[in-house]
Order: sequence, then structure tokens, then C-alpha cells
Amino acid sequence: MTINQPVYINILEDCARFNATLVAVSKIQPNSKIQELYQLGHRDFGENYVQELLEKQQALPPDIRWHFIGHLQTNKAKYIVPFVHLIHGVDSLKLLKEINKQAAKANRKVQCLLQVYIASEETKFGLDYTEAENILQQKNQFENASIIGLMGMASNTSDKMIVKNEFEQLATFFKKHFDPQVHHLSMGMSGDYLLALTSGSNMVRIGSSIFGFRVYQ
Ligand SMILES: *Cc1c(COP(=O)(O)O)cnc(C)c1O
Repeated sequence: MTINQPVYINILEDCARFNATLVAVSKIQPNSKIQELYQLGHRDFGENYVQELLEKQQALPPDIRWHFIGHLQTNKAKYIVPFVHLIHGVDSLKLLKEINKQAAKANRKVQCLLQVYIASEETKFGLDYTEAENILQQKNQFENASIIGLMGMASNTSDKMIVKNEFEQLATFFKKHFDPQVHHLSMGMSGDYLLALTSGSNMVRIGSSIFGFRVYQ
């Protein structure tokens, strides 16, 4: 089992055109595939599960930038705060406060994105625009948790107009709040990343098209 290198190169080129960062989503994928991408020079990897991330962080090179892109339970923040590069899914003030607290203990500043709920499905986590606005207004109170942008996941539908609308709405909200600190917009996955980039994303999270389908066991 190997990664799909031509697809990876292609995605990298698309990201370069839009000045975007590619986060390779390696959840449920074996370390061997992460190593393979690492050998090609890739350093940004995304994981969804705390326990899995802890095991991979132990086993893999220390200069990997680990992105936590899943739903983070407040009581588990303390495990990843000491080393994580960016937490994409901050979806409550309570979680942000806990990250800030744990980061102070670990004597570091942890970068966070606020996850905004943009899909029309009920299963996804995230803040609504009003809640996100509220937290952004208080962002300077958190000395050890730095909100550097926003994250969103579009509806899981083949209707491109729906997806485009959701991305564009979040991009509009992002532009309103853009400043030297809040400058990352994480949106786009394997199936919709080009639409995300043309809508204003500057960080995409792509798993299956690079690594192959995930085999859940
Ligand atoms: C799994 C996951 C991805 C990657 O999805 P693919 O369709 O495999 O590219 C991106 N973002 C989040 C939040 C995920 O959970």
C-alpha cells in the first residue's frame, strides 16, 4: 500500500497557485504511508483522534506539524496541547478556555481555528456565526490560545451550488474578521478542495485522495 504520488503533486500545485497550505489527513492510515509522504518533504499532517495522534506523535519524526482536525473533547485537550501545531476544531468557549489553561501549564502558545458550522446537516460540530463573532471579540483575553483563523466543513452533497454557497458565506465572514492574527481559512477536503480554494480557502485538509480510502477496523 502506497500513497498516490501523482495526485499529491497535483494537489500541491493547486495549493501553490492559491497560496494555500496542504494538511495531509492521515487518520486511520498506517505510519508507513505518513513516512512516505514525509520523505517527499511533507510536514503538515492532520489527525482526528487523540489516542491515535499520541501514538503517531511518539513513533514519527519530531518535526512533523500535527494538526488536530477532529472534535476535541474538553477533558482531552491536555494530552495534545503540549505538542500540537494547530487545533482546527475549536467549537466552544469552554474548549478554548481549557486549551488556554493547559497551554499556560505547558508554557506555550497554542494556535487554534474556530470551527464554524456551515453545513445543512445536523451531525456536524461547530459554532454558528453569532457565537463565532462573540468569541472573536474576546480573543485577546486568551494569552496562551491564539485564534489564527476559521475552519468549516461543507455539506456532504454532490450539489456543487450548495457547497459553493456554504464556502462563500464562510469566506465572507472570514474577510470581515481578517487581521494580522486571524489569517487562516481551513476549508476543503478531497472531494471539494478546488471549490474551497476558488471560494477563498488558504488551508485544505485532504486525506483519501492522497492516502487511499481509510480501512476502519
Ligand atoms: C477526514 C477529514 C478530512 C479529510 O477527508 P477526505 O475526504 O479523506 O479528504 C478533512 N477534514 C476533516 C475534519 C476530516 O475529519
